[in-house]
Amino acid sequence: MTIDLNAIQPFHPPRRALMGPGPSDMHPRVLTALGQPVIGHLDPAFADMMEELKVLLRYAFQTDNALTFPVSGPGSVGMETCFVNLVEPGDKVIVCRNGVFGGRMIENVERCGGVAVVVEDAWGEAVDPQKLADALKAHPDAKVVAFVQAETSTGALSDARILIDVAHQAGCLTIVDAVTSLGGVALEVDEWGADAVYSGSQKCLSCTPGLSPVTFGERAVERVKNRQRKVQSWFMDLNLVLGYWDAAKRTYHHTAPINSLYALHESLLMLKEEGIENAWARHQRHHLALRAGFEALGLSFVVKPEARLPQLNAVHVPDGIDEAAVRRSLLTDFNLEIGAGLGPLAGKIWRFGLMGHSCREENVLLCLDALARTFAAQGRAADGAGAIEAARAAYGRC
Ligand code: PLP
Repeated sequence: MTIDLNAIQPFHPPRRALMGPGPSDMHPRVLTALGQPVIGHLDPAFADMMEELKVLLRYAFQTDNALTFPVSGPGSVGMETCFVNLVEPGDKVIVCRNGVFGGRMIENVERCGGVAVVVEDAWGEAVDPQKLADALKAHPDAKVVAFVQAETSTGALSDARILIDVAHQAGCLTIVDAVTSLGGVALEVDEWGADAVYSGSQKCLSCTPGLSPVTFGERAVERVKNRQRKVQSWFMDLNLVLGYWDAAKRTYHHTAPINSLYALHESLLMLKEEGIENAWARHQRHHLALRAGFEALGLSFVVKPEARLPQLNAVHVPDGIDEAAVRRSLLTDFNLEIGAGLGPLAGKIWRFGLMGHSCREENVLLCLDALARTFAAQGRAADGAGAIEAARAAYGRC
């Protein structure tokens, strides 16, 4: 495509309902916060906001960890921050892989010069704690266990509390991917003893993409302090970043994404106002309504009920339906974005997100109605009214 430079106009994005694997819809309050005037990132007013942000993040993570802050970069940078700081060349790391993001953890270990021992579970299943225990027995020299709590590529929720416990019994630190879980399902960093956790701003926090909240417990901080070698990444070296996020030191490290941090402050404040348990319950309530509607449409879930993420609903594409054409129609005819399958699930599943501000009744009903109409347009009988009735019944009123 050739673009005529002189014909370019201001960009006005279409208005979509975001029901894919992220980003999610942003609440008007968060959008307003994003548009506040820029101030200097060393301005005392900004410094006060940063301190509040750390307090709000500790609430979201349910932790008292001092080292809790948003990394300037998307979830992938939070992931890399954990690995580059906690893995040194030669370190053995057990990585549990049950989807795309466990695979990225393996990449990270190897790029840090570590040795990845992979515990495999099928895509769509939770990580099996027994397999982890067996791997730890076979590799008593392992130093770190890494796993994804909420596998966005499949919609599977693993039992983080048990996996952390198994890792600790073998003397390992834990790195937990909470990109999709934070704010959507229970995550209790202190109660469960998670050592290093990273998340993302654009999923259940419904903030602008590009920030990665992280938290490190005391044992993880000790490991970083006692490293044999310097962290190979200057930008992600916690020892240096901390000089910026520590109120007592506050020196220039990099120019923070100022307006994005205003937005994160607002979205975390909204989470606090709602109450974190209420946010978890809201995700579950809308998931149950969407599930009821999907079942009325004859759709089947990829993940079995006990390991299903409320915020990421993966369903099989029915026989005879053109997977990509459905997504295209939902987007162009209904302004509704959903996600495709990844890797071995490409073309076989759809992923419906119910994350943060996207997780609300109007989206559930829009989705069921639009899906039924799209199926009908492809010649598959679909009872849209029945699906909506089933969802409404799940909400407790027919
Ligand atoms: N980990 C998980 C589980 C994710 O779902 C994602 C993104 O979807 C990432 C890591 C990477 O986050 P980002 O795309 O913000 O870099």
